[in-house]
Amino acid sequence: MIRPVLKYPHPSLRNPAAEVTAFDERVLEVARDLVDTMRSYEKCVGLAAPQIDIPLRMIAVDVSRHPKTTASHGLVVLVNPVVVMGAGKEVGREGCLSLPDITANVARAKRIQFEASFPDGEPIRSVSPGFEARAILHEIDHLDGILILDRVASPTEVFARRSR
Ligand SMILES: [Zn+2]
Repeated sequence: MIRPVLKYPHPSLRNPAAEVTAFDERVLEVARDLVDTMRSYEKCVGLAAPQIDIPLRMIAVDVSRHPKTTASHGLVVLVNPVVVMGAGKEVGREGCLSLPDITANVARAKRIQFEASFPDGEPIRSVSPGFEARAILHEIDHLDGILILDRVASPTEVFARRSR
């Protein structure tokens, strides 16, 4: 089901999300809603459950059709994602459905190793490069109540969006 995306400064965007402890029907439903909602926005490469007002540690990512993507896992929904290693640092421009009027330059690791589970409970441990790593890190930030505004080095790194 496509759900409304919360916009800054909605207070729910600031709450840390809870760990998923049981892989039940609810988790599968949230996974479907994340994907449906993400797919309803052209060019959207990721969405976190708190953005659709569900306080659980779940994210959807799909950078496979983005021009900056070099390699990716395709569409994945990750439950309880944790970054276990980050390497390198690169500044790149990011947008966010919860902050529809701006983009911002944010420094992120160039490559990450992460652990998570799929919505059916199957564990995944993998490496993600480049633009996908950036998307995963952006979405994990949402699980901790962190927005791109918190990640910019200075206000001059925030830009008005010309068009949507
Ligand atoms: Zn975002």
